[in-house]
Amino acid sequence: MLVNCKVCNKSNTRPRMCQLDSLREELWFCELEHLYAYKASQDIQYNPNYNLWTRIKRYTESTKNAGHQYEMNQTRIYRLAKILLDENDQTITQALEPLISDRITQPWSYHEMQLFLQAESDVLSENDIDPLQTILDESFDTSHPDYDQKYALAILRRNFTVPVDLCQECLHVKHQEELNANQGYCDDCKLSDPEIYSPPTEETSKETDSGSQFGQLQQQIQQ
Ligand SMILES: [Zn+2]
Ligand SMILES: [Zn+2]
Repeated sequence: MLVNCKVCNKSNTRPRMCQLDSLREELWFCELEHLYAYKASQDIQYNPNYNLWTRIKRYTESTKNAGHQYEMNQTRIYRLAKILLDENDQTITQALEPLISDRITQPWSYHEMQLFLQAESDVLSENDIDPLQTILDESFDTSHPDYDQKYALAILRRNFTVPVDLCQECLHVKHQEELNANQGYCDDCKLSDPEIYSPPTEETSKETDSGSQFGQLQQQIQQ
């Protein structure tokens, strides 16, 4: 039996839809963005003191909501919620169209991505073992006999929305582009260009340097 999405009216079989517990009617949604648009609009209807953006951020960024693992278009959720509140003249089809300026949640922060990559390379520091385990416990059934951390980390890595990797030297997460430009090192760690031979005049130049400084100091005292 097919059910329709409460927001966009798309129909699909129940196992492919998300359901929202409701006492009055069966509520189905074709995807989390539509579910959150509905929930946020309901929040505003029942409590006008709520701020729509704050509600949307809460649903899409809080670790307690399943949504935080997915990449979600917050601005699109906002547009949909506004239609549900009768405050947007767009049609659903227009509102669904993604725009370049849309704000999209990142499934993982840079720090989290760094933990995954460091764990994969076995260079995770002692202090980061527990925070990593917390994320793994939230994301996977880590008590399952078939659970495999290497596999779990590979799945997490596949969800990265920006190409990043670890700098070979400082082991911090950096953009792939920056690393490629410096043979795997970040801008801070990149090997400096080989020094050009300079005749041994450094000593004397330093002397004249401090000499001129001394001269300036003398001038200042005289003034
Ligand atoms: Zn929908
Ligand atoms: Zn570095």
